[in-house]
Order: sequence, then C-alpha cells, then structure tokens
Amino acid sequence: MLRGSCHCGAVKFEFREKPEWLTECNCSACRRYGTIWAHGSPKNISIEKAPDATSAYIWGDQMIEFHTCRTCGNTTHWSDLDADYDRMAVNTRLVPFKDVKDIPIRHFDGADTGRFLD
Ligand SMILES: [Zn+2]
Repeated sequence: MLRGSCHCGAVKFEFREKPEWLTECNCSACRRYGTIWAHGSPKNISIEKAPDATSAYIWGDQMIEFHTCRTCGNTTHWSDLDADYDRMAVNTRLVPFKDVKDIPIRHFDGADTGRFLD
C-alpha cells in the first residue's frame, strides 16, 4: 500500500498494490512532468479530491488524461478516458520517500519504442 498527496493536500491517493517496479517514462509528457509512476488497476487505486481540484490534460490521440492539482501544480495521476480500461497510474514522487526507496525504477521508452530500456 502506498499513500501520497500533492504538496497542498488537495489531492490524496491510495495505491493498494505492491508494485514490483516504478516507471520513469521518457515520452514528451512524462519527461516534462518529472513523474515516477506506479501503475495498477483502478480497482486498487483511490483518488480522494474535490471534482474540480485537478485540471486534466489530454494529449494528441492518447486516451489518457494527466491530472495536475490546480492549487499546487503537482501532477498526481493519469487515468484512461475509457472507464473499462483496467490501468491507471499515480505519481510516486508524491509518496513519502521512505515508502518507495526500495522499489526499483525502470526506464520506459515511451518516446520511441514503447519498451523498457533495461
Ligand atoms: Zn495540491
């Protein structure tokens, strides 16, 4: 279980899986956000926030939206626009470091090949 919150506390999340690894992606969006993702099923992830607490960014023909706190600017999670899609991710930069320091980080080549680089 990982718990995180944005800097101002307007967005909190609970990730009820134990990730084998975290993902740093080099795509044009993730690279700029500086996120380190934990991916899981939406069934095992709760986002606690007011409906208007985040702004959502949808990019190109992607089906995912990146959520960023309107108050403090932290990127908190992404979710898929297709509610049946069984994947989303939270930004573990927002989780206390002690809770993630022992989880390996894998580098995902989202910019080019769509494969892990390791
Ligand atoms: Zn915030």
